[in-house]
Amino acid sequence: MSTRPNILYIMSDDRAAHAISAYGSTINQTPNIDRLADEGVRLTNAFCTNALCTPSRATILTGQYSHVNNVKTLDDELDSSRPVQSQKLLKQAGYETAIIGKWHMGNNEASNPQGFDYWNILPGQGDYYDPMFFENGIEKHYEGYVTDIITEKAVEWLDSRESESPFFLMVHHKAPHSPWIPARRHEQLGVEGEFPEPETLMDDYETRSEAVKITTIRIEDTRKANLKFDPPPGISQDEKRKWAYQRYITDYTRTVQAVDDSVGTLLDYLDDHGLTDNTLVVYTSDQGMFLGDHGWHDKRFMYEESSRMPFLARLPGKIEAGLVATDMLLNVDFAPTFIDYAGVDVPDEVQGKSGRSLLEGVRPKNWQTSLYYRYWMHTIGHRVIPNYGVRNERYKLIYYYGVTPKDTGDPAIKIEPEWELYDLQLDPRELNNVYGTPDYLKVQLTMLAELDRLQANVGDKSRH
Ligand code: CA
Repeated sequence: MSTRPNILYIMSDDRAAHAISAYGSTINQTPNIDRLADEGVRLTNAFCTNALCTPSRATILTGQYSHVNNVKTLDDELDSSRPVQSQKLLKQAGYETAIIGKWHMGNNEASNPQGFDYWNILPGQGDYYDPMFFENGIEKHYEGYVTDIITEKAVEWLDSRESESPFFLMVHHKAPHSPWIPARRHEQLGVEGEFPEPETLMDDYETRSEAVKITTIRIEDTRKANLKFDPPPGISQDEKRKWAYQRYITDYTRTVQAVDDSVGTLLDYLDDHGLTDNTLVVYTSDQGMFLGDHGWHDKRFMYEESSRMPFLARLPGKIEAGLVATDMLLNVDFAPTFIDYAGVDVPDEVQGKSGRSLLEGVRPKNWQTSLYYRYWMHTIGHRVIPNYGVRNERYKLIYYYGVTPKDTGDPAIKIEPEWELYDLQLDPRELNNVYGTPDYLKVQLTMLAELDRLQANVGDKSRH
């Protein structure tokens, strides 16, 4: 048996850490994902550097920030010929590589997966039922529920392997991305109307920037295709938000349950085939998600619920069971971590750092204590103003850099540049913007300097 571990990377889409019971979820139970927390490490400070599907996926593969890999928005496609991608480096090092599930980094020849011995992906967002896939470029149609199909294809690929070499298998679930359609077996799970509400559900956005006040990701404003029903007639705006929250969370929690089943199936497979002891298993998401927090669904903002990623990892004998790691791991660090586990030197073009020792309970020397974040995309449909910022272990500074109708194509939008500063120790829900207040002047200057330092460090350009 190879001493280099197999790597099973399981990613779901729009999966908030706070919808996993190991992370203290109050809305659902996830016994199979919790197994990874019990038998491995749970990271409490994993963050993405751009809380949006396509860019985060590109960052995860390349270990580079959006402005370097050129995938900044949902409209950008990955140039798959880029040589520095985790799967290409692992393949060169003798790993057998595969990806099954949601790709979502383009729909043309140039953005098709490269560096995988086998790929079977959904086009674009893909469908929940009877989905079409592209298997090594060939169109395929499968009957059934997408999460179960992805799991079956992953098991089939593992079963089909004849090679003695280690594997790198990426299992990318579509669920629980909107429109949150559950498996038939979960259609009655949970009781709509009885899900606990988040503290900030009725947020009035006082003290926050104009950029926050004008966003259209409020749950009561989401498309009917997502909520499926009209609100009861004659209800107040507050009642409408509460109704929409229950509708959303009922479908969201039902949809995530099949992902938990999938993790259970894959962990059982490893057990049954003697692979558990030599397989690094990672469970994560492409970003976080607002689950009614601040009255919102979706992501994009730099706030905690959206930028925080769940991250659980298990490798018996290397990663201590039940470990909780509080140091920061960013999505730029995922690729170098896998490359490191494969025994390959991390190329200079990779901007992240290997988090291997962090996963194994040792804080790496000179490890990061702050992160740089940038969200590039403005869309009329969601109306989230582009922003960037810095977060350290206590404070978060955000800059909304101002847009005009010409920038966005949105005639209703003219926003002046604005700043927000949060003291996460005293205000973990980010309700009280203290930017410009005398008590925080020194912190503000320190965070502004840190923003400039990190921005220069990653090679991005300042707009403030
Ligand atoms: Ca996503």
